[in-house]
Amino acid sequence: MRRPIIAGNWKLNKSIREAIDTVTLLKRQLADVQAVDIVVCPVYTAIADVAEVLSETAIKVGAQDVYWEDKGAYTGEVSAPLLKEAGAQYVVIGHSERRQFFHETHETVNKKTRAALKAGLTPIVCVGELLSEREAGRTFGVVGEQLKGGLAGFTADDLKQIVLAYEPVWAIGTGKVATPQQAQEVHAFIRKQLTEGWGAEVAQAVRIQYGGSVKPDNIAELMREPDIDGALVGGASLEAGSFADIVKNAVVVGVR
Ligand code: PEP
Repeated sequence: MRRPIIAGNWKLNKSIREAIDTVTLLKRQLADVQAVDIVVCPVYTAIADVAEVLSETAIKVGAQDVYWEDKGAYTGEVSAPLLKEAGAQYVVIGHSERRQFFHETHETVNKKTRAALKAGLTPIVCVGELLSEREAGRTFGVVGEQLKGGLAGFTADDLKQIVLAYEPVWAIGTGKVATPQQAQEVHAFIRKQLTEGWGAEVAQAVRIQYGGSVKPDNIAELMREPDIDGALVGGASLEAGSFADIVKNAVVVGVR
C-alpha cells in the first residue's frame, strides 16, 4: 500500500524563528489533512524547535543530509542518531545539490542510507538526470546507475523503509516542471528496476516522489500518474500557504 507523501526541502533558508513561524502556520492549515504523509526539512539548527512545535501533529520533520558514522573525529558532520534525538524522522539523501556541490557519490549515498536505516530514520533517496544527460538519451542509464549504486546491498525489508525521489536536475528551481508523462515514464522505469532487484511486492510498496518545480497548480496532474506517489518540494515549500495547498491538492488519489 502506498500512501502519498509530500516533503518540503527548505534548503539553506529560514532562521529558527522563521522556521517556527512557518510550521506554526502549517500546523493550522493542515490540521484536517489525514490522507497524506507530510514532512518538512529545515536546516539542522532548526530541527529540534520545529519538531517541538509539530509534536502533537501528523507533520513530521526531516533533515537534509546525514553523515554515515555515528560519532568521532568528523568535524562539521551530523550523525543519524543525533538527528533522531533532535526530532527528525526522515532524511533527504543524495539531493542533486549535494551531488553537484559537495561531491556526493553513489557510494556515499549508499553509506548514508544505511546509517539512516540503522538509526530508524526514513531515507528519502534522490535520483535524477542533468539536462545534458536527458538530451543525450541517457536518462534511464543515469537513473539506473544511481539506483544500483545507492541501493546496493539493501534487503527487501530495507527497501520497504526507503522513499525514493525522482528529481530531474533541469526541473529543480527552474520553474520547468517535467510533464506528467515525462515524470511517469521515469517513475515506471524506477519501479521496474525495483521489481528486477527486489521483486514485485517490494516494487509495489516503495513510494516514489517527483521533485522539480512542483507548485499548487501542477501537483494534481502529477499525482494522477500511476507511479507518482508524492512530491519533494523546494521553493514552493518555503511559504506555508503554498506548501499547504500542494498537500491538499495532492489528495486526488488515495492509498494505492
Ligand atoms: C528540490 O530542491 O528538491 C526541488 C525540487 O526544488 P524546487 O521545487 O524549487 O524545484
